[in-house]
Amino acid sequence: MLGGKLREKAVWVDESACIGCRYCSHVATNTFVIEPDLGRSRAIRQDGDSLELVQEAIDTCPVNCIHWVNFEKLDELRLQLEALEMSTLGKQSSVRPRRHFPRSR
Ligand code: SF4
Repeated sequence: MLGGKLREKAVWVDESACIGCRYCSHVATNTFVIEPDLGRSRAIRQDGDSLELVQEAIDTCPVNCIHWVNFEKLDELRLQLEALEMSTLGKQSSVRPRRHFPRSR
């Protein structure tokens, strides 16, 4: 049976810290997917697996980058991630702030 009812907290992956090991996506298969462009995990839904299974996936994460957060924080967290320029894992693993080049005059 799937998780069903909506939880009080949302599960969130800090993709900037994810190392792409895929453990979480093997444990809670309805919740986490490896985003194909960056090779980092993303929580694609909040009611796909039981709370216990999601917690188990969180516990397997070797870099502790999966967190329970308030639903209201999700938009803000997404915006913060979008402000980062994340490299595709397997090629480079650095995370750099997005650069703003001065306009030529
Ligand atoms: S377990 Fe953690 S590091 Fe591994 S893919 Fe999932 S979020 Fe990323």
